[in-house]
Amino acid sequence: MFTSQISAVAICRTPYKQKFGIPRQPGLVDVKGYVELVPSLNTVDAIRGIEQYSHLWLLFCFHENLAQGWKTTVRPPRLGGNEKLGVFATRSTFRPNGIGQSVVKLHGVVIRKGKVCLEISGMDLLDGTPIIDIKPYIPFSDAITDAKGGIAQDAPELIHVTFSDNANTQLLTLSENAKYARLQPLISAVLAQDPRPAYKKAKDDPKIYQVALYDLDILWQVIDNQVVVLALKPTSVVLLDE
Ligand code: SAM
Repeated sequence: MFTSQISAVAICRTPYKQKFGIPRQPGLVDVKGYVELVPSLNTVDAIRGIEQYSHLWLLFCFHENLAQGWKTTVRPPRLGGNEKLGVFATRSTFRPNGIGQSVVKLHGVVIRKGKVCLEISGMDLLDGTPIIDIKPYIPFSDAITDAKGGIAQDAPELIHVTFSDNANTQLLTLSENAKYARLQPLISAVLAQDPRPAYKKAKDDPKIYQVALYDLDILWQVIDNQVVVLALKPTSVVLLDE
């Protein structure tokens, strides 16, 4: 038995404003985010030397799922929801201690609005995710080239993404704003992961889906096994303060 009080050391800021659509592991979508140290650790001393590393481990809390609890077995989406595995044999977001871990690329240290931040990319985290620890990634020990990947040996297959004329026109207008400079490649990379549940992929699926990126809702549909981006509109998700 041990007791420990764990609290956030930082908050992750990302373009992903809702869980649906976030890549299922890190490194799948090349998009920038920030790890903002909390006020009690808001000093460059806490990260002095970190720029010597190209990648970091982020340990974090699946805070949006804590209220839903966890089960000893889960049905991984990769297996179409048909097979059960033990929670510790998966990277399920519903876990006894609700802890996740991701390797992300480190681009540098920046100060944003008085907050010491690590500029990162490749994260699979919801905006506002509490980070409970940050550690350097050490290739000689952490990279295991002959490791077996179980049910997740290979990266997920990608699906082709196209944009309707309407979406292209909207993107053109938005591109005048610097904050949307890389929006089109981001939408393509996120939707190429095909965020739909596995059981939807096997049959015709007329549903119109929505993912929230930055302050936009992206509406899309799968037609003839291709994602078609239909439209972009101001998001209905309540956003955290920047
Ligand atoms: N790489 C991590 C791991 O293995 O522990 C996370 C893998 S988990 C399968 C990735 C998914 O977690 C994302 O697709 C997203 O839906 C979900 N997620 C990300 N941040 C979350 C948060 N703060 N609370 C709950 N779910 C979150």
